[in-house]
Amino acid sequence: MSRTLFIADLHLSSNQPEITDAFFDFLDKEIDQQVDALYILGDFFEVWVGDDASDAFSDDIAARLKQLADQGIAIYFAHGNRDFLLGQRYAQKAGMTLLAEQTVIDLYGTQVLLLHGDEMCTQDLEYQRFRRKSRGWWWPRLMLAMPLWYRRRVAKKARAKSKQSQQHKAVEILDVERSAVLDTFSKHQVRIMIHGHTHRPAVHQYDQEQTRIVLGDWYEQSSFLVVDKQHMRLHYGDHADTLTQWQHAD
Ligand code: MN
Repeated sequence: MSRTLFIADLHLSSNQPEITDAFFDFLDKEIDQQVDALYILGDFFEVWVGDDASDAFSDDIAARLKQLADQGIAIYFAHGNRDFLLGQRYAQKAGMTLLAEQTVIDLYGTQVLLLHGDEMCTQDLEYQRFRRKSRGWWWPRLMLAMPLWYRRRVAKKARAKSKQSQQHKAVEILDVERSAVLDTFSKHQVRIMIHGHTHRPAVHQYDQEQTRIVLGDWYEQSSFLVVDKQHMRLHYGDHADTLTQWQHAD
């Protein structure tokens, strides 16, 4: 049966080759002619300071993805908070299509919302302030006009700052907020959403029969979602959660 794959939060970096190995291994094992599409829902890279910063490491990944694209597997990419500066140039190299921040797709006849998910962490006011600025129209343009060494420095500082401030934030503050989730469901008139960002792989059900699927990160395991007409299976490490007849949840 034909199927679709979803991943997020690999945080690929040349410093952690074991994650790249796990990713290539995943492609070898999970992708065959029955796969229609691969959706990458953000934070694919640990850091991305511009397509002009691509190197042997990122070129390697692009080449691997391009190979799949050439075999007829559609690859889609939604930006995360680490790699939102990834642009058309790299996307083309990798044979990927860039998605909008929130995208509703037709998944085997059912409308499903895809997003990285950080916009629903509304209790983290400090982060949302930075998000508004960095995802606005002027900040990315200004950044991309700066020399590479400067961008790398800004990214490094931002990571250090976020790491430090997360230590003082309650666990709930770093998760999505229920009301933001419900608002997002109703804004798009969908009953299913798939996202990453929080690194808390799970299937959540809400009162009005909405389902929120959260992909896991790849720091110490792999995590992915496989969907066909009948099943949704969320894998993380050795665990798997399966939803059967997900299209008829109502
Ligand atoms: Mn993220």
